[in-house]
Amino acid sequence: MIKNIPYWSSNVERLRYKSIPVKSDCDAVIIGAGYTGLSTAIKLAKAGKFVQVFDVAQVGSGASSLNAGILSGNLRFSLKSLIESKGMKAGTEYYIEGINARKELQEFIKQECIECDLKYNGHFTGAMTIKDFDQMKYLADFERKILSNDIQILNRYDQHKVIQSEIYHGGTLRNDIGNINPVKFLDGLLRVAISYGAVIHENTAIHNIIDHRNVNTAAGHVKCDKIVVATNAYDKTNNKWFRKIIIPITSRIIATEPISPEIMVKLMPRMGSFGEGKYMGKYYRPSPDGKRILLGGRDVLVGKNPYGAAKSLSNSLVKIFPELSNVKVEYHWAGKVGFTRKQMPSIFEKDGILYACGYCGSGTVWAPWIGTKVAQKVLKKHTQKTIFYSEPPQKIPLFNGRPWFLPFVIIWYSTLDWIKGR
Ligand SMILES: Cc1cc2nc3c(=O)[nH]c(=O)nc-3n(C[C@H](O)[C@H](O)[C@H](O)COP(=O)(O)OP(=O)(O)OC[C@H]3O[C@@H](n4cnc5c(N)ncnc54)[C@H](O)[C@@H]3O)c2cc1C
Repeated sequence: MIKNIPYWSSNVERLRYKSIPVKSDCDAVIIGAGYTGLSTAIKLAKAGKFVQVFDVAQVGSGASSLNAGILSGNLRFSLKSLIESKGMKAGTEYYIEGINARKELQEFIKQECIECDLKYNGHFTGAMTIKDFDQMKYLADFERKILSNDIQILNRYDQHKVIQSEIYHGGTLRNDIGNINPVKFLDGLLRVAISYGAVIHENTAIHNIIDHRNVNTAAGHVKCDKIVVATNAYDKTNNKWFRKIIIPITSRIIATEPISPEIMVKLMPRMGSFGEGKYMGKYYRPSPDGKRILLGGRDVLVGKNPYGAAKSLSNSLVKIFPELSNVKVEYHWAGKVGFTRKQMPSIFEKDGILYACGYCGSGTVWAPWIGTKVAQKVLKKHTQKTIFYSEPPQKIPLFNGRPWFLPFVIIWYSTLDWIKGR
């Protein structure tokens, strides 16, 4: 029987902390206690600000406790296309921030002694066709030339060093992309935030953002100097405007039953993580204890039946590793990732309120980075600029917070994959 709960919830003992009553006055109110909100809180509290973080539910009950824990820090666009559209300086800057964000996260985890099963076993992205492989190789060479990145190109035979699957035509291997237990990382952030003096109020919704200095919470009115909205794809405030610019897209994951260590190492010799070079590609990795495989993907058209969704992901797993055809799925869960129209992580200010969102499914690295940058904005540290600070994203025409058009988008991208023989 499949359990419709996250695998993480069954094997991580969550951090307990003492709750403190809501104070009616503070330096900053942060709405949302996921990776973004907690990272902002850490930076502000460390700088001596009195910060209160509110979450409508348990800390991290949005995407931050549901993700696969792959520390990608990737962007939706290649370095080449960014340079073509934004120019050499700006185009390169986006990627340099990605490199710095990964490094900073690794240092932060070490410095703050966060035990979150961090491992760097390499991330392989498989090419679905020979043409895709040639394109991947070309883009990787381009990136290496400009940024001296450590990207290895593995042909169809060499890929067996990292994956025992025949569905890929080679791919790229990156050693700077690690993986974590996402909930242990979340609780690590929570512990650090509290240790610097941030006050966390879970199960305390912000019902109403009155203006840039006042909010109504489930525990009364709070006045502050700055409000940061870190609700991303889970926004439940009264802010209708925000829900017109952020598209929540469902991502689902399955976790298998335990698999023998011999098979695990045979299928994934380096026990790294994996992605696929196609629009509707899957991502997967071994569980931190190396006993199961976790595989996820953006929502497929399976209606509302969770077993149908789990079955579809399980079929994808068997396509990659046919010898797992008898392996059962034990867990299945889903969460929402936030996209904006420009499909880039975004920091912006509107009516005096700061927002951080839109990591397009790659938030484990981007959310802590962007969360810290938001705090620097509050502290007015202009020396630590970010290329991701911009004007508020544009509204999406005919979008009112309910992504009615997603089935059409999924069909469109699935068709493109099919046309390209993926
Ligand atoms: C299934 C899945 C798999 C993923 N896998 C990966 C991966 O492998 N690698 C990767 O890089 N990224 C992955 N992601 C994306 C990543 O998890 C997110 O980008 C990241 O966690 C976003 O963090 P956040 O803090 O911005 O938002 P969230 O963690 O979603 O936090 C927003 C919070 O705001 C709170 N909130 C909303 N409204 C209110 C209100 N009115 N008052 C108070 N609180 C409120 C919510 O309760 C929520 O806790 C995945 C996401 C999902 C769903």
